[in-house]
Amino acid sequence: MFDSEFVYELCVCRWAELAWPPESASTPTANGARTDRPYIVARQLGTRNRRWDTIIIEADAGALADRAAFGDRELDSDLLHIVQHAPADWAWYREALPEPDYPWRYVREAIHRAADRGVLENRKNGNRIEIKRIAPYPDWFERLIVIENKPDLDASAARQLSSQLEHDVDTGLADEVWVATGRTDSRVEPALLEALPVEAGILLTDFADGVDADSISVEWYPTALQPTHAEGYRTSRRLELAERAYGRGWRTYHETMRPDCRYFQLRRHGRGLLPWCAAKSRHQSAATCGSSCADFEPEPPAWRMKAWPLAGGPGAGIKRLLADRRQRENR
Ligand code: SF4
Repeated sequence: MFDSEFVYELCVCRWAELAWPPESASTPTANGARTDRPYIVARQLGTRNRRWDTIIIEADAGALADRAAFGDRELDSDLLHIVQHAPADWAWYREALPEPDYPWRYVREAIHRAADRGVLENRKNGNRIEIKRIAPYPDWFERLIVIENKPDLDASAARQLSSQLEHDVDTGLADEVWVATGRTDSRVEPALLEALPVEAGILLTDFADGVDADSISVEWYPTALQPTHAEGYRTSRRLELAERAYGRGWRTYHETMRPDCRYFQLRRHGRGLLPWCAAKSRHQSAATCGSSCADFEPEPPAWRMKAWPLAGGPGAGIKRLLADRRQRENR
């Protein structure tokens, strides 16, 4: 039913936002979510070797609230190194921080960046830079769950997916791995499911009538993965992923698409909003909706004048709407 895996992925992300974890025994909350443990949904994040479609970060509620002291944006690995070890009282940064495995001058640059962002205090004492934390960096991240999205699981997709999932199972960077695929009349071909590692869970989706908390059912539950990386490596990679998910969420697709095109719209699909191209009369993908699109036409200047100069035209409104939704869900 979808023209691209991208749009399917947006549906899975929206469902996860509404109803993670699937078929939990816990009672749905007022907004339809089925767990009281907070979680963040993101898309297209990963490591140098592996990128996942949908990522769910489960968090500790109190610690997640404390994370807000460090702002809405993600902290990259250099900033994390500083905020995790910054002292409660003023101290020379070289005495306060663990020896990095890269030159100290990069740490100095990161200190200035952290101070500019307000996530660290710094001052000069003679020719020494001293630092002090704004608050203890909280231990907010608990579990990392990844979902691979394959709306049409045919034999070749199953083969390709199988080797990717085996890599995930082997490395154990995530706590759980799932595959989401479209439900068909005959459910899913058992032979295709047998090609996937038994550790991976299977979600069957039906978004024909829109995205809803009940759009997905569990075909097979996953087993918890065993970590194989050294604990230090695993902990820091997972926290970096959690920070990226925290800062980006899954609605930042407008950054690589053209909401400033006169044909770009958002259309309701159940409880989800999906990008729609009025020129092509279909959901456009992130790959096709770019500067090379032959149908691109900028918004007429008159549209931008309606709330000029602060609000911009409909394209700016779409960006604001997506950013507002992300912030609302994070709250
Ligand atoms: S015409 Fe092209 S650029 Fe404009 S919304 Fe459609 S796909 Fe995007």
